[in-house]
This record gives sequence, C-alpha cells and structure tokens, in this order.
Amino acid sequence: MDISVLPLSADKMKAKFKDESHLGFGKIFTDRMFLAEWSAGKGWHDARVKPYEPFVLDPACLVFHYAQEIFEGLKAYKWDDGRVALFRPEMNARRFQTSAERLCMPEVPEELFLNGIEKLVSLERDWIPTAPGTSLYIRPAMIAVEPVLGVKTSDHYYFYVIASPVGAYYAAGFNPVSILVEDKYVRATPGGTGEAKTGGNYASSMKAGQDAKKKGFDQVLWLDGRERRYIEEVGAMNMFFVYGNHIVTAPLAGSILAGVTRDSVLKLATTLGCTVEERPIDVNELMADFKSGKVTEAFGSGTAAVITPVGKLCYKDECVSVGQGVGRLTQRLYDTLTGIQTGKIADTFDWVRFV
Ligand code: PMP
Repeated sequence: MDISVLPLSADKMKAKFKDESHLGFGKIFTDRMFLAEWSAGKGWHDARVKPYEPFVLDPACLVFHYAQEIFEGLKAYKWDDGRVALFRPEMNARRFQTSAERLCMPEVPEELFLNGIEKLVSLERDWIPTAPGTSLYIRPAMIAVEPVLGVKTSDHYYFYVIASPVGAYYAAGFNPVSILVEDKYVRATPGGTGEAKTGGNYASSMKAGQDAKKKGFDQVLWLDGRERRYIEEVGAMNMFFVYGNHIVTAPLAGSILAGVTRDSVLKLATTLGCTVEERPIDVNELMADFKSGKVTEAFGSGTAAVITPVGKLCYKDECVSVGQGVGRLTQRLYDTLTGIQTGKIADTFDWVRFV
C-alpha cells in the first residue's frame, strides 16, 4: 500500500531537545506520526505520515469503554556512520498480529507495519538521539474507533505509530532495581490475555504497582494466576535468574509476553558460553536458591528496560539480594545487546534492519 506524506507546516514543528542526558522516557514526541485506517468492507486504507496532533474522537468510541486496543514497542538507533537501525522489528510485527487476533482486531500485514514505521523513522531521523543509552522509542498502536455502546468488535480501527526520543526507562538508569513478588493481585490467568500486548493488562496491574511503590519497591513480579506459585514476569520485563553459568527464565505458556529482548537474551547467552533453560520457576525454591547463594545474578529484559539488574527481591516477609552493583553476566549481556543495536558489535544474528 502506498503511504502518502502530508505536509508539515512550520507551526507544527517542535523545538528539538537540547540535552540528551535528560530525555526521560516517553515524554516528548516527534513532529510527525503514521496513521492507517481499517473499515469493514474496505480493509486497510489511507496510510499516511502526517503532522503529530491529537485525534478528534467520539466519546462513544469502543476503545474508551471496552479497551479494544493493542500496542507494541521497539527502538531505532542512529549509528556512528549515520545509518538508522531497527532491532528485530519483524518480531514486533508478528506479535502485533498475535495480539490483534486475541482482541478480535484486523491483522496489520507485516509489510504495512514495517513500511509505516520505516517511513516515519526516516522522516524523523533528526529526532534520534545518539548519546549512550538513548534511542528513538517507537510506539505502534491500534484502537477501535467505532462510536457505539453495544459490546461488539469495531467496524473501524486506527493503526498509528508515534515516536519518542528516550533515555533510560528507570530513573536509576543501569542500576539495580528492587522488586516485590506480588501475592495478592494477579496479572494474567490461563486462557486470559496475558500473552497479548493490550492496554487492559497494564490498567489492571497498576493497583499492585502503586501499592508496591508505597512500600519502596520499583516494580512487582507477578506469580501465575492459578497457583500463585510460579514466577511470571515484571510490569514491562521478562525475568532471568543466573545460576553461575546457567540462566533460567519462565516458559512462554500463554500468560506472559513473548519478549523480543527475552528471545535475544536466550540466544546471546548461549553464544557467551551459558546454558539456558525455560522452565516453571517455583517462588519458594527461588527464594531458597537466593539464600543459599545458588542464584548469583537476577535481571529483567525489555525493549524499554533493555537489561535491568535486580538488586533486591522480596516475597511475603522475606527479602533476598544478589550482592552489590551489576553482576558480571548481566553487564556482559547488556554490553553485547546494546553493542549490536548500536553497531559497535557485529550483528552475527542478522537482527538489525536498516531504515
Ligand atoms: N513483559 C511485558 C508485560 C512487557 O510489557 C514487555 C515490554 N514490551 C516485556 C515483557 C518485554 O518485551 P520486549 O523485550 O519485547 O520489549
């Protein structure tokens, strides 16, 4: 499908950031956005890059009431040689399709998903920061815009992409975070929407996050919704536990997000001489393994969070920690992953896609 580019008048252009060290996460947006529409009987149409501006939407739109919405998150990096690289965007395209299927939304063809992002990013390349740890975060989303109050699937959708120059996701930067294992609320249940990247999963997890923040924690770690016994994931990260040279993470059993970074860590760790295992992780055994010193490092992985070391983990009345600072393997994985993303380390996996 052709993507048209609408003119950007001078009054729609924003002042660019001056200081790349204080970007924060997702607070400023570039001058343009991508938008395509799907209508029943017509399919996808009117793909365009246009000035970034608010939507004018009917208050009855389905998305506002029944949360028929999905999204994605990926990053663009500007390399020293001026090229702009996306990291494994095909995986985001496929995950967007899986999420759409679960939410009864139309599938966005991979080509439209990738071309829309690439067109936007190439026009906005001057917005990509280059300081270490910064990038252009790309947020594709799809919303149901039919104005009707009956609970039904929409006959009209917007697929849009916005972009935001970002620094570190956590205010602490690449420093250990403290995590509370959540034993009251659950995020996902078997047969639910845990595997889909849909807004409702995040809305329903805010209560636990807020309670944990009041107790001084950065994030909550979810347990499975059936037995509340097995480790699932953190708000926006998959979790890894390091036993010497052996790395363990929860399996993709339908209730956690299949992280692009998770998959990359599993592949990278193998090339760094580690063994990897995807298996159910019993929280009681995990706490015991921390206490006996078997767990040597713990970290989370995500597009926004990159690799985030975990310093302290608390469950019920007990807390465990993994030494001081950032673990050796955590640091190596961070360096290798970000090295590939930014062109400092050769991409032997063919993960990078140039815009
Ligand atoms: N789990 C959840 C719930 C998330 O929101 C994210 C962020 N997308 C992740 C894990 C990590 O996924 P990815 O590595 O693809 O960003």
